Amino acid sequence: MTESENTATHYFEEVDALVVGAGFSGMYMLHSLLALDLNVIVVDEASGVGGTWYWNRYPGARCDVESMEYSYSFSSELQQEWNWKDRYSTQTQILEYANHVADRFNLRKHIRFNSRLNSARYDEENNRWSIVTSNGITYSARFLIMATGTLSSINRPTFEGLDDFTGEWYMTGKWPHEPVSFSGKRVGIIGTGSSAVQTIPIIAKEARHLTVFQRTANYSIPASNRPLEEEEVREIKANYDSVRSRAKKNPTGIASRSMQDISAMEVSEEERNREYEKRWNDGGTNFMVAYNDIGVNAESNETAAEFVRSKIREIVKDQNTASLLSPTNAIGCKRLCADTNYYSAFNRSNVELIDVNETPIQRITKNGIETSSKAYDLDAIVFAIGFDAMTGALLAMDIVGRSQTHLRDKWSDGPSSFLGLCIEGFPNMFTITGPGSPSVLSNMMTSIEQHVEWIRDCIEYMTKEDKIEIEAQIDAERQWMDHVEDIASNTLRYSCNSWYLGDNVPGKKRVFMPYAGGIPKYRAFCDAVADSEYKDFSIK
Ligand code: NAP
Repeated sequence: MTESENTATHYFEEVDALVVGAGFSGMYMLHSLLALDLNVIVVDEASGVGGTWYWNRYPGARCDVESMEYSYSFSSELQQEWNWKDRYSTQTQILEYANHVADRFNLRKHIRFNSRLNSARYDEENNRWSIVTSNGITYSARFLIMATGTLSSINRPTFEGLDDFTGEWYMTGKWPHEPVSFSGKRVGIIGTGSSAVQTIPIIAKEARHLTVFQRTANYSIPASNRPLEEEEVREIKANYDSVRSRAKKNPTGIASRSMQDISAMEVSEEERNREYEKRWNDGGTNFMVAYNDIGVNAESNETAAEFVRSKIREIVKDQNTASLLSPTNAIGCKRLCADTNYYSAFNRSNVELIDVNETPIQRITKNGIETSSKAYDLDAIVFAIGFDAMTGALLAMDIVGRSQTHLRDKWSDGPSSFLGLCIEGFPNMFTITGPGSPSVLSNMMTSIEQHVEWIRDCIEYMTKEDKIEIEAQIDAERQWMDHVEDIASNTLRYSCNSWYLGDNVPGKKRVFMPYAGGIPKYRAFCDAVADSEYKDFSIK
């Protein structure tokens, strides 16, 4: 039921649910709530669907979860009719898929593009959210669902002097829609995370000269990308139910992820290296689960780390460069990268690596980048400096819950959430893949579908039972966050500076944000809560 009233200065719309974000979580949430016959609106700042795949259009952008698994499973027809081209899809292919989904399920008419949520306030008297958007519309919604993504709030460059730079500059997370040409140009790139690792080999081929400014070296495994063969696609499609069911039972939400359930220290060095070699050649982040303790035992971790370093020394001809590219922290502490020709790009005569620990960037000048030892003249700068992960997008909005509590205040000591789904003090609000859930440590598609379905079931329960308000209880939330921390503290996750811990954002509280216990365990918690008719919630 929609009640709209249009005046010259004010437009008001009443809905059952307002979803923020038209990426994969927002679109599936919309589709699921429409199936319950609810009146739903999605708002998105972008002018199209796709979320992360709408914004991250930098050259070389691809997903490092295999295409046949980085896709929705909720519609058998959709997964049978859609044809992925490559083992790992390009950003363009994934965005095409997102658009296909929007059209196929008739979602667009419920989405308000170019519309950012500015503020959301919970009205305790009416048990509704009052939401103000950038295009001047105020919505009143019974449920507010944040499908705002985990890596959607970009870190904008704050280098001194950037305004003076007379060349072009770009951010990987907000790449222009128009073609960008680096042909004949001197390009500098700051950052060596997953985005940079993908774009460096491509820019290197086009640019006259590429200078890579590295702060921390990263481990990267060759993606071994290739076109999908008809026969393997046919085979997966014929067995999709079993593939999806195995994905749900795998800690990472990826069916093809095969962990050997033995310690790296239980086998001989020769056998270990044989296994690492096999996984290196197969490609992708499956490397990380060669043994069951690479992520938890420093000695086992070092065997995998040293194997990758030996590969870097083998690939990169100049041994000083190889040494600079060799990470010293535990492998998998920062997000493992997957690449196509990353390390070998440094063998090109037009590519240069600068260690900004030894010679820090001092400022950007009108001509380029100045470090403590040298000025680099550049025609273009690419900032691949990451995101304010997991909490950035939520905290960019002014969200005010019960008793005038601002989410920013509640989370000033780090995020606190029950299951990464609901936040005490913020009734009738849900977060998809929020902090405290497996999200970024899993196949996002598996996690998104599980969250959306849990939220849909909860809203269906509330509607059927004539309930008007649901809110996580503080004790349940505290216990959950303690559990999230306990699990992470038994791993090597705290042994380096990573965006998982918020280390890449000055002033951000150091808290390990995702749930590292794996999907099956997490799912069991969520299912038990729902089966108990939401015993850890206050419902009225
Ligand atoms: P990122 O992993 O956070 O990397 C940012 C890079 O910028 C790091 O090397 C960081 O160095 C450097 N940096 C930041 N500020 C700097 C400064 N002031 N001076 C010098 N260097 C600076 O960000 P990202 O590469 O965009 O990737 C983020 C995440 O997105 C990934 O981990 C992954 O989860 C996801 N992603 C996935 C794919 C894929 O599926 N293939 C592709 C791209 C991104 P430090 O390490 O020293 O902080």
